[in-house]
Amino acid sequence: QQASTSTVPRQRVTAKGNNAPRPVESFEELSARYNLQSKLLSNLADSGYKYPTGIQAHGIPILLEKRDLAAISPTGTGKTLTYLLPTMSLLDAPIAKYSGNDMGSGVRALILAPTRELAHQIHNECLKLAQKRKWRIVLFSKATASTLVDKAVRDKVDVIISTPLRMMAAMQAGNLELDNVRHIILDEADRMLDSEFLEQVQEVVAACTHPDVQKAVFSATLPANAEKIALGMLRDPIRVVVGLKDT
Ligand code: ADP
Ligand code: MG
Repeated sequence: QQASTSTVPRQRVTAKGNNAPRPVESFEELSARYNLQSKLLSNLADSGYKYPTGIQAHGIPILLEKRDLAAISPTGTGKTLTYLLPTMSLLDAPIAKYSGNDMGSGVRALILAPTRELAHQIHNECLKLAQKRKWRIVLFSKATASTLVDKAVRDKVDVIISTPLRMMAAMQAGNLELDNVRHIILDEADRMLDSEFLEQVQEVVAACTHPDVQKAVFSATLPANAEKIALGMLRDPIRVVVGLKDT
């Protein structure tokens, strides 16, 4: 196990895990190191973000290196972009446009959040980042779920953002396959791994059977019990903690 600690303004960040990648100082460094798509960077610049926050500086390289991540960082520190940027980068191209043969068919990224409002916010941020390319990014609702009853339509979806309950309903109706999911993110993981949602979340995660699936959990706080469950789901994870909580 390696531990690295760095101090970005007003944030103390600790990263623990095997071979945790170096944090970046800037978004440009990220681009140089990982060859990020230029559209992602220009969309980021359009948002007016100048410097990565602590969780972004550490978390984005970890996810771009296809590692599993448990990220604990206070509310308002930019956790959403920390997972959206690497996910969109690793998806590479919209599945409907992709001519290669290693992308399989069906949704490749799944973001789960405990409430519909939160899922809606994530969807908006994802649309901003994904501008100017023909991604199909679906906020799962009764209405969108009904359009996805057609398998030909749902096979062309790149990203689904949903609550666990809505996902379960579609899975149980036989209207959703998750075997091509390569990235699964649990946002507000403290709630997602609480008794209210745990069973559904575990069923959704278990349905993501692709051998290369990358998993990440994000939360402002992660009580010991939830953290134990989270770490049990992750493979050789890196745990990044921003702020006061430290070990
Ligand atoms: P969290 O999920 O950690 O509570 P959010 O992802 O909702 O935080 O981000 C909080 C706010 O910070 C949002 O308005 C977002 O647009 C903004 N933000 C995110 N990253 C940056 C950045 N690097 N620079 C400036 N603002 C940012
Ligand atoms: Mg958040």
